[in-house]
Amino acid sequence: MPRAAISPLDRPAQFLKSVGPKRAEQLARLGVRSARDLLFHVPRRYEDASTVLPIKSAEPGMEATLIGEVVSKGVILTRPGLRIFQAVIRDATGLIECAWPGQPFLDRSIRRGDLLLVAGPVRKFHRRQIQPREFIILGRADEAGDARGVVLPIYPSTEGLSQRQLRAILEANLDPLLEAIAPEEPFPPAQLRALGLPPLREALELMHRPASLADAERGRRRLAYEELFFLQLLHARAHHRATLARAGTPFVRTDALIGALYHRLPFRLTGAQTRALREIFADMTSPRRMNRLVQGDVGSGKTVVALFAMLLAVESGYQAALMAPTEILAEQHARTLRRLLADLPVRVVLVTGRLGAAERREVVQALAEGDAHIAVGTHALIQERVRFHRLGLAVVDEQHRFGVHQRRALAELGERADVLVMSATPIPRSLALTLYGDLDLTVLDELPPGRQRVRTTLRGPQSRAKIYEFVRGQVAEGRQAYLVYPLVEESEKVDLRAATEEYERLRTEVFPELRVGVVHGQMAGEEKDRTMRAFAAGELDILVSTTVIEVGIDVPNATVMVIEHAERFGLSQLHQLRGRVGRGAGASYCILVTDGEGEAARLRTFVATEDGFEIARADLRLRGMGDFFGAKQHGVPDFRHFDPEKDDDLLLRAREQARALVASDPELTAHPAFRDVLVSRYGEREKLYDVG
Ligand code: ADP
Ligand code: MG
Repeated sequence: MPRAAISPLDRPAQFLKSVGPKRAEQLARLGVRSARDLLFHVPRRYEDASTVLPIKSAEPGMEATLIGEVVSKGVILTRPGLRIFQAVIRDATGLIECAWPGQPFLDRSIRRGDLLLVAGPVRKFHRRQIQPREFIILGRADEAGDARGVVLPIYPSTEGLSQRQLRAILEANLDPLLEAIAPEEPFPPAQLRALGLPPLREALELMHRPASLADAERGRRRLAYEELFFLQLLHARAHHRATLARAGTPFVRTDALIGALYHRLPFRLTGAQTRALREIFADMTSPRRMNRLVQGDVGSGKTVVALFAMLLAVESGYQAALMAPTEILAEQHARTLRRLLADLPVRVVLVTGRLGAAERREVVQALAEGDAHIAVGTHALIQERVRFHRLGLAVVDEQHRFGVHQRRALAELGERADVLVMSATPIPRSLALTLYGDLDLTVLDELPPGRQRVRTTLRGPQSRAKIYEFVRGQVAEGRQAYLVYPLVEESEKVDLRAATEEYERLRTEVFPELRVGVVHGQMAGEEKDRTMRAFAAGELDILVSTTVIEVGIDVPNATVMVIEHAERFGLSQLHQLRGRVGRGAGASYCILVTDGEGEAARLRTFVATEDGFEIARADLRLRGMGDFFGAKQHGVPDFRHFDPEKDDDLLLRAREQARALVASDPELTAHPAFRDVLVSRYGEREKLYDVG
């Protein structure tokens, strides 16, 4: 958007009304550096009469919002230095004391007869007392009538800057800022009208000065839509470039290999696998390039789906590559593929950093000359510049471990290779569309039949001895067990049983007669691999570990998964861990050990279901998007307004609109306003997707 250089929105926050150097510094801590930032510093939630309790029912231990008339007040002195402002408020049901430690100055602004809204924790000292985190003077009790209709915005704040002060700063500046933002509206009125959303200016006003919670929500939805639309536009452009703008390979299905594999599979494909293959084959046989994500629960059978896709490439005269995040996983895949392909004329080679020089030379040559058809490997595939004779399909397993760069680097090993990526953990469909909007999505929403439930239980630390006995019993029956800990080194602050220390204790004191191994994140890769291999080969009875075992390893003989300090893990992570057992014929168990009382409810959600999608939804709801993915996860968009629980409809509309727009106008020539916003928001990411 051509923005006047002198827009008042670009001025530093320090020059706003009611803001001096000290306030400016506090605002900066909130990320508010310019007038524009202030305008977009919207409330994180609201209080209103619908959340207000009768004073009588406020009980110690609660977070409560109360409204009452100030009937008495004053400053008291408890010990030297601490002065507490106190006020007693009353409603039709009773009285309660409000206390503001260290804020005697409030005596000047709060008067008897004021109608006060307070929100904060209720405690019991000698009397019932509330210590307001927030308060607002609604007016004089005899004039204000009741407080219905009052909506109190609660802003993200910082030390030394109270809600009152923030609200005052906003109120002093809001009108001119709203005037200034109006011309920056990127959407044509018709587009917003069709969605029932207000223009930008109005949306911001609704969020800062709502007359009702519904108003505030309408404003939030407008901002959420903008986030979604531009991200989808970014994705749509990436998708367009990756699929349509470059020729792909129209693979030809002869069924020579696909048919042979189909008939020799030891099981029938699930309905979901069949549907997925139909979508994948349709992409692959079309002249456009495929860019598809297969999402499925742990154990839904993604590997076989990938194998069929690779065979389509091979029977069309091309090669395929499958990249996995660890050596163990790559080796496991190579073994599985070779087993399933047995005497078919398909040569599978393994490419990892562990290859000896001679072997490596042989493999590299076979791939370059087209004698090897499928390369399974780690990132060594892209690092060691393996050359393919004719790579037609690039498959990335456990895609969250790789970035866009690596995915592309693999595809670039072929001239026009199709791309198939497989997720590790299910995430809600809407979220998949936001994160991976540049990919087409296939969901495997069905597990193979006959899979037995993993019996999951929640135990307190006092049960540890019993759990150890149980583990010993399983090992006596020839089974193996995982014992998982959340951290590597015991932190001084938190008393966690770290893997390394526990390992020593378990090995020498608890299970001296058993074979116990340990893997953790600080270990050298080689040592880690050696131990994992020993466990997979049945040379260890118990594997003590941190979450490094999380990804994809398959040891069917392991039947017990004990997770210590389960409250430290996200539900989706627990789900991944649980997915490591129940892979063989033996009955399997997942035992969560926790002393975190407060977390029990969350963990019970996990105990109650094995549906990964449901678990992911619960996890997302409980932890929010940032924590759900881990702060460092690659490419998670920084949404401030989008709420995956409420905005599915907007997301789907935004995606449709963005794709339609890009299909008719890929360079957005007719939509310069959209283009400008895209560049200013996602300039760097746009480059990421640039295809030379
Ligand atoms: P994930 O989707 O977690 O990668 P895998 O591809 O490793 O799952 O498959 C898990 C297990 O299920 C494997 O042992 C695989 O052979 C088996 N499997 C896959 N598809 C089916 C099916 N249709 N029926 C029965 N077992 C299947
Ligand atoms: Mg897998």
